[in-house]
Amino acid sequence: MHYSVQPRGQSREKPGQSPRPTLLSPWRRRCQWGTTLLLLLIPWFHINGNSLVRIDIPDLTLFFFGQTLRIEELYLVLLFSLALTFGFLLITMLLGRVWCGWLCPQTTLTDLAEWFTARLGLSGKKQSDKKGVTQKVILQLFYLLLAFLVSANLLWYFIEPLNFFSILVSGKLHYATWICLVVVTLVIYLDLALLRRLMCKDFCPYGRFQTVLADESTLTLHLPPDELERCIKCGSCIRVCPMEIDIRRGYQVECINCGRCLDACRQVMAKRNQPGLISYTFGTSGKGAKELINLRTLLLSIGMLTLIVILLFAAYQRPTASLKISISHFVASRTLKDGNRATFFNAWVNNRSDTKANYHIKARQADNGSPLPLKGQISQLELEAGENLRIDFVLVTAVPESKLEIEFILLDQSDTELAIAEAYIH
Ligand code: SF4
Ligand code: SF4
Repeated sequence: MHYSVQPRGQSREKPGQSPRPTLLSPWRRRCQWGTTLLLLLIPWFHINGNSLVRIDIPDLTLFFFGQTLRIEELYLVLLFSLALTFGFLLITMLLGRVWCGWLCPQTTLTDLAEWFTARLGLSGKKQSDKKGVTQKVILQLFYLLLAFLVSANLLWYFIEPLNFFSILVSGKLHYATWICLVVVTLVIYLDLALLRRLMCKDFCPYGRFQTVLADESTLTLHLPPDELERCIKCGSCIRVCPMEIDIRRGYQVECINCGRCLDACRQVMAKRNQPGLISYTFGTSGKGAKELINLRTLLLSIGMLTLIVILLFAAYQRPTASLKISISHFVASRTLKDGNRATFFNAWVNNRSDTKANYHIKARQADNGSPLPLKGQISQLELEAGENLRIDFVLVTAVPESKLEIEFILLDQSDTELAIAEAYIH
């Protein structure tokens, strides 16, 4: 068969030269490394003096792209996680295991481990047997170093990286953190030394999950049966496949959509001045992107969009400050010489805005709105963005004859009510 036009997937070549096929691998590597580096670097970035993304366990606070969410606002995180899950399910249904092949850090780590193993000449059993102990020890140390980096990277989402290193060096790392560091390092080390692709094939829950989600419209690598006659049975597509799949036999759930087989076939066939046989297709019936419009994708899209709208509405309605009140555990109340009662309160003020703010607190009777006198830390409360401040104050009232319901109001400098907390005394 002679091809006189520019074949699909090949770039123009000079006369007399073999055609240079367009390869996907450089793009795949950029995507993989981009995601891995992003996950590695995110904890190092700050916004408004706080980490870009970090969970502060002692303060029960989540820092997320300039927003400071306290534990009581975690419904926003839940909504975000749900929307993300729906998005992930939708992407998997549409694009198959494209996350595994093009973005997942586990794939990047495995590629890196395989590359280093090959550099040391330890990739095949025969080659490995010929090499000395030194190369093998270097390889294990490399795995250990990678495993430690991944484990530390995970902890940076809980402890700021610079702080993490300083407490690690000073030996003041909390024992629970040590346990996490050691266990995760060990798990990643075993993954790199023993499992690698087996992890993607047999252990990764997302891989298993994908088998349920993939349907006849999912993006897949495909070799159309009418193209099989052009196959020269060179086996390149099988040799490069990290999952040991023979794509000529049709779609297999282990396929991570990496496109290595596509590249290999393009290179082989380019030497024959022919286009590659393998291509990405939505489903295998040849309907193209039209396959994507079906009930499952529509339902998932509607679910995801609904969650995004609810999330945006909830985030927009979010108060810029919060006030929590409780009666002091140490001294609840005391009767004064003049017969009045002093009730001691603890309060927590949280500035949820992204700027410094100044607050004050007032109290009133819940039933008739009459003001009640407060003494203590109730004015000039200056809080940085995201700061949470504990304060103590005293309410002086006549001894109530029955239960007295009180509203404590948090106000800003222009006397706008920002938050109300209720309490009662009797
Ligand atoms: S069949 Fe092709 S796309 Fe699928 S995992 Fe193997 S090389 Fe990657
Ligand atoms: S690389 Fe292409 S030509 Fe070679 S065996 Fe695979 S499908 Fe056939």
